[in-house]
Amino acid sequence: PTARTKLVAGNWKMHGNLAANQALLQDILSGLDACRTEVAVCVPFPYLAQAQMLLTGTQVAWGAQTVSEHAQGAYTGETAAAMLADFGCRYVLVGHSERRALYGESDAAVAAKFAAALQAGLTPVLCVGETLAEREAGATGAVVIRQLEAVIASSGVQALARAVVAYEPVWAIGTGKTATPQQAQDVHALIRGRVAADDAKVAEELQMLYGGSVKPGNAAELFAMPDIDGGLIGGAALVAVDFLAICAAA
Ligand code: PEP
Repeated sequence: PTARTKLVAGNWKMHGNLAANQALLQDILSGLDACRTEVAVCVPFPYLAQAQMLLTGTQVAWGAQTVSEHAQGAYTGETAAAMLADFGCRYVLVGHSERRALYGESDAAVAAKFAAALQAGLTPVLCVGETLAEREAGATGAVVIRQLEAVIASSGVQALARAVVAYEPVWAIGTGKTATPQQAQDVHALIRGRVAADDAKVAEELQMLYGGSVKPGNAAELFAMPDIDGGLIGGAALVAVDFLAICAAA
């Protein structure tokens, strides 16, 4: 079996300022020496230039938190994938649960954003996950497969060879409630199995992150599961010592 590289990606959400970001990134860079995993930070749009300036030539990649589905045009307030590429982004999150819930992003819109990111040479990090009500109704598998299949239907399964999938149960995001390693593993295995039904090689090589209240104290047991290839980190990505400890656990 392929030894998949581990990736730890921070999602800063709408936090930070120039001074705080500089301190955070410098602390992360100076603490990463021993860490051989891939590391990335997804920062607010205005700070992409700062990330590029501070992170170029380092082991830390950077990216954005969403992207327009359109290549260019009269879409006031939106940001095109090519603009993100212009600032050296490697990654962009698509379909984060906050975007789906607060900004009404449908499966189809997320799939279009995924395609736009790929078109610009970015690596989309497709976020999928169920709400608490969906889990309690026994619908977890159906929900994440529906979210995944929207992307497969529009971009084709081969597109996943150039993407990352993040499983983020909505009830675990920012709540301090983490999925157990087995709960997360079960969903990761389900997703990988669905991809394998179309293409075994793409499935085997697909990097899949878990996200939802990952902390230094629970990262190692999550990352030890066979289908968990790293983490998408919200709150703990804003504290250098915590983010570094999570990187070290990967
Ligand atoms: C996230 O927003 O992607 C996330 C996982 O947040 P947190 O780690 O704070 O739960």
